[in-house]
Amino acid sequence: MRLYNSESRGIENFTVRDGHVGMYVCGVTPYDTTHIGHAFTFLTFDILVRYFRHKGVDVTYVQNVTDIDDDVLRKAREVGMNWRELADQETRKFLQDMQELNAVPFDHYTAATDHIAEMHTITQRLLDEGLAYVVNGSVYFEVSKDAKFGKLSHLSLEEMLPIANERGNKPDDPNKRDPLDFVLWQAAAPGEPTWESPWGPGRPGWHIECTAMSTKYLGQSIDIHGGGGDLIFPHHECEIAQAENATGVKPFARFWMHVAMVNYDDEKMSKSLGNLVLAHDLLKTWSPDAIRLYLFSNHYRTEWQFLDEEMQRWSDAARALSVARYRQSGSASSDIEIEANRSAFVAAIEDDLDTPAAIHELSALGEAISTASPKADVSHAQAALAELGNILGLSFVAR
Ligand SMILES: [Zn+2]
Repeated sequence: MRLYNSESRGIENFTVRDGHVGMYVCGVTPYDTTHIGHAFTFLTFDILVRYFRHKGVDVTYVQNVTDIDDDVLRKAREVGMNWRELADQETRKFLQDMQELNAVPFDHYTAATDHIAEMHTITQRLLDEGLAYVVNGSVYFEVSKDAKFGKLSHLSLEEMLPIANERGNKPDDPNKRDPLDFVLWQAAAPGEPTWESPWGPGRPGWHIECTAMSTKYLGQSIDIHGGGGDLIFPHHECEIAQAENATGVKPFARFWMHVAMVNYDDEKMSKSLGNLVLAHDLLKTWSPDAIRLYLFSNHYRTEWQFLDEEMQRWSDAARALSVARYRQSGSASSDIEIEANRSAFVAAIEDDLDTPAAIHELSALGEAISTASPKADVSHAQAALAELGNILGLSFVAR
């Protein structure tokens, strides 16, 4: 299989080691509801898991929930809720949305707050290595000590700072030696939840959470580490710096996969802009199959724009597949070329998850079934349609 690796910026052959793939996907920060951009990201990895399993590869699929974070605390204050209740409530909603979208369950769904001890271990290791420093109960990673910093994002240090500042960095923190240094452990602030640590009470930095959880469940060299494209910098860059310096094992992730953003009303879909299309709302009207077909009529690495008027078209396509899947079969021999569709479908998925081409093949197979003579035996073609559709997560239930 060929997959694009964000680190090399090229398509590479992905080889399975020992019949097993470990995959870690950065999950949600639970303070607001799942939008269709999240769904596009997580269902992309869902298809990858489904495809590996279809090939007989054993997959361990880990996703985390960033259940302690600035955004959770801020939102909890805004709405007057306990941060823990807010995080639990939004996590439940996310899992419900994913289930309704027919996503495979995660093998490990890990909460940051359950892994504080593992974060301490990595933080201490970075201190021991001389790559981190403690000031006033907070611990920071010293970016200038890591010559490889930037190898994933390919950004210069000058380019990094404004992006980091948009994504949670606090450049004016007086404790820091350099504004780009990032926090591994932050000292207790008034009114915030805290955990004990060797450096005093506080809470973890964002990036250390994922390094601790991914290495705990998948080891020091992970096959695939992924998430939304906005995580390349700083989140994943910082994760590499933490993991590779703490463990000495390189690469921390063999493949870095990132899913493109989804736009709406000509802008990036985001909580701050308020231009969100929620999975929950779409599911009130449209079937999961229709939503999946529309999402994956776009390639995961191409930024695209969600258009409300497209849903009807993909709902019709989903219905057509369902009709083909369940039409009455005859017993006369049929000339449907199942293998041609199957091999083209598989070739498309193997080619860096070319889901638009795979959907094209699936629709062609559905069309061949639906237009075959009423007397034709289409049962084998229907079985192939179900099998291939399952890789895309389709359930063939029309709405
Ligand atoms: Zn993460």
